[in-house]
Amino acid sequence: MYVGVSARYLVNLEALNMAESVGNFVRHKKAPIVVRSGSGYVLRYVPVVSGQSIAHGYQELLARVAKGMGLPVCPLCEQGVFVKHGADEIIRRLARDYKAPHAMRLQELLKEKKSPASLYEEFEREVITNCVVEDVGGFLYPGAVPVKRTSRFIAGYMIPALDHVKASGVESQMHVRHDPLGAAGRAGEETGQAIYYVETASALYTVNLALDLDGIGCYTRAAGGWEELEDALKRREAALRALALLVEGMLWGAKKSRFNPSFELESVVVTVSHPYPFNPTPGHHDDYIGDTARRASGYLKTVKPVAGDAFVEIHYYRASRSTASKPAAAGGVKVREAPTASEAVLAALDHLAKAGCR
Ligand SMILES: [Zn+2]
Repeated sequence: MYVGVSARYLVNLEALNMAESVGNFVRHKKAPIVVRSGSGYVLRYVPVVSGQSIAHGYQELLARVAKGMGLPVCPLCEQGVFVKHGADEIIRRLARDYKAPHAMRLQELLKEKKSPASLYEEFEREVITNCVVEDVGGFLYPGAVPVKRTSRFIAGYMIPALDHVKASGVESQMHVRHDPLGAAGRAGEETGQAIYYVETASALYTVNLALDLDGIGCYTRAAGGWEELEDALKRREAALRALALLVEGMLWGAKKSRFNPSFELESVVVTVSHPYPFNPTPGHHDDYIGDTARRASGYLKTVKPVAGDAFVEIHYYRASRSTASKPAAAGGVKVREAPTASEAVLAALDHLAKAGCR
């Protein structure tokens, strides 16, 4: 089972993803995008927020939701330090400083003379059994036998909607802060105030996210195929609830203590598909929900002859002031309007029992 999300946010004055600071100037991340223009296409440089930034926000939420549901989260992920089990020193630190039993077991495992396939299986099982964040968000241990788990949470860049890209921009804001030691830090030479600039951006943004629910709570078997953890169903529920929170609150990005964005969630379309992945259309034009429904009927025609129990559902939310249009009925596809974005995401809970390792 696979859940895809495509959302549109009207965001004003955000500094969610900064690229670098040059002296007293902090730049917003920007990227080139191609947009349609009259006879062809033109290149534009626009403010963006990276998928990495969104994944960080998601994993922070997931750690809290998982703990709340009584599911295991490793001590570093619980603190929002997502270094995962990415180096021997991190495993040592978890064993020595946090007395984490699973880290002690990993240290022993790495000393044992195991076949690469057995080591891979036991390492992955040990890590995900003890940390839902790494189960869903993936990890990479780059040892003699590398162990790589692909993230089941998928996030792209948040970029301005192409049809409304002219209504996006970046501008630096001047700020002044108390600076008793002066910019050079010389004691005794009080300068009082220091000027600094932060670039802020505003746009109608669109973002695409997904959750591969089938892969959650499953580890690779040395003999081939997958094995499911006992609490896999609960882990999938935690992943879905964290996704609903993320989308509803636009809970990602940096600098929110002083640049908390003024945002409105305009519209969301959520697709729930089984047994193959299906991604909704990004919100670049006002008919993106209708376009998703039409493409979903193409998905059904493609997969029905292969899998008899295949289905795809569409749940969408539109704020009353949203410019996104309502979708028309599409052949064989259930299309439902939800009262909130969270409920559009949580509609997937009804089918959770269908998810499984594959
Ligand atoms: Zn962890």
